[in-house]
Amino acid sequence: MTKKTKQPTLDFKTDWAYAPALEDTKHINLKKQYDLFIDGKFVKPNSKKHFATYNPATEEKIAEIAEANEKDVDKAVKAARKAFDKWSKISAKERGKYIYRIARLIQERAREFAVIETMDGGKPIRESRDIDIPLAANHFFYYAGWADKLEYAFPDRTPKSLGVAGQIIPWNFPLLMAAWKIAPALATGNTVVLKPAETTSLTALKLADLIQDSGLPDGVVNIITGAGHTGAAIVNHPDINKIAFTGSTDVGKMIQKAIAGTDKKLTLELGGKAANIIFDDAPLDQAVEGIVNGIFFNQGHVCCAGSRLFVQENVADIVIRKLKDRMETLVVGNPMDKNTDIGAINSKEQLLKINNYLKIGKAEGADIYQSSCGIPSKGYFCKPTLFLNASQSHRVVQEEIFGPVLTIQTFRTIEEVIEKANNIPYGLSAGVWTDKGSKIFNLTSKLRAGVVWANTYNKFDPTSPFGGYKESGFGREGGLHGLMPYVRL
Ligand code: NAP
Ligand code: MG
Repeated sequence: MTKKTKQPTLDFKTDWAYAPALEDTKHINLKKQYDLFIDGKFVKPNSKKHFATYNPATEEKIAEIAEANEKDVDKAVKAARKAFDKWSKISAKERGKYIYRIARLIQERAREFAVIETMDGGKPIRESRDIDIPLAANHFFYYAGWADKLEYAFPDRTPKSLGVAGQIIPWNFPLLMAAWKIAPALATGNTVVLKPAETTSLTALKLADLIQDSGLPDGVVNIITGAGHTGAAIVNHPDINKIAFTGSTDVGKMIQKAIAGTDKKLTLELGGKAANIIFDDAPLDQAVEGIVNGIFFNQGHVCCAGSRLFVQENVADIVIRKLKDRMETLVVGNPMDKNTDIGAINSKEQLLKINNYLKIGKAEGADIYQSSCGIPSKGYFCKPTLFLNASQSHRVVQEEIFGPVLTIQTFRTIEEVIEKANNIPYGLSAGVWTDKGSKIFNLTSKLRAGVVWANTYNKFDPTSPFGGYKESGFGREGGLHGLMPYVRL
């Protein structure tokens, strides 16, 4: 008699215990070529063109992705418009059921999503598994709950859906950003045309598969792939009612200009250069962990990364020593290895950009320090890096590097650090480490940042709003606030 083996459960948290993640890549069901997801079906692009997507840790080609042109965008918008008539009229409770179903399916396929996210984008599997994918599912769960409660979200007002939302997302949190965009749009009765980033389209296309399986009516969500001009074609399409963009400040400004004079609603979630501030009364070991997480999480490809460290002068030496010691323990390398802390840089282009900033920082006179770890000979990798003795006017302090690079400045007084932290074009996030509640309250009201974390960093939750000041954009995603950009009151 053959022994019956126990079927693994679908619990994505514990599931990983029985098979090494490395093995998982062999069981992932990927096609050689992906088409556009329009009106509930995968269709060939009018452009007849496909481009390659690579694994940045191995430089190997994974699959080919369709390149959508203006005609494809128009087709997707027409499908979304047609679907809007029905979708905006079905009962809110029914809408919620579809969104819940999407959330559950993401949980069921979490393992596959996590592996693909790591293969296509280079982030450590531990992060895709424990953060990106569970948060994406949670985002759908959260907004599913709002679908039939909009009258409570907007008491004494009548929220009306906008119509077709064009959504454009970056490559740093591909599935999670798709969830941030799609979930509130659906909950408020809108339909969607979404474009993922060129280097990380695969999980969005897997999401298209999942949406097909969920039975969501055709055309409610359309996912079209391509490069910047595909995004521009979405922005410029006359029959789109709302643009939701997450990406660089440069492209955000172009989009704002492009839609000036139209009645398209706009939200922009743009770049950042967050201050992470350590006072001498902070629990220093905990603060150093927070600094490491703040800058090295996701290779520093995080809009809210704590990329500028401000440390109070009298504890600077000890904090920097602890930080260097901790950096020595970080494992840089194969993102598929569960022990890896820092994976691959998302693309060759991004690695060149980071390396250029390393040269700029040195030329400006800051002292560079890198951990002594080795990095793989193939693939795009960057050692965790510090710029010590950086000053406020340095470009490495003022500009977003979007890599594992931390600048370090010291300060004496609270007034000085507030002034320096705010003296920057961005205002997305900040971190404060201190034992004193009064300091936290003082700083949270004076730092011009959309999110301020106290004695923690990079904590995300679907219930809490996220968004920036100044050149970090406008509009909020997440929480009750995240419904607002998708309704007319
Ligand atoms: P990006 O170059 O601005 O690209 C973002 C998206 O826009 C991509 O899908 C891109 O397509 C598309 N795009 C490019 N040119 C366009 C155009 N002219 N019109 C319309 N769409 C266009 O940014 P990224 O390099 O992917 O992402 C990194 C940036 O995003 C960083 O600055 C980061 O801070 C920011 N970000 C902000 C948040 C936030 O919530 N505030 C969150 C994550 C990231 P291609 O991929 O084909 O170029
Ligand atoms: Mg890729």
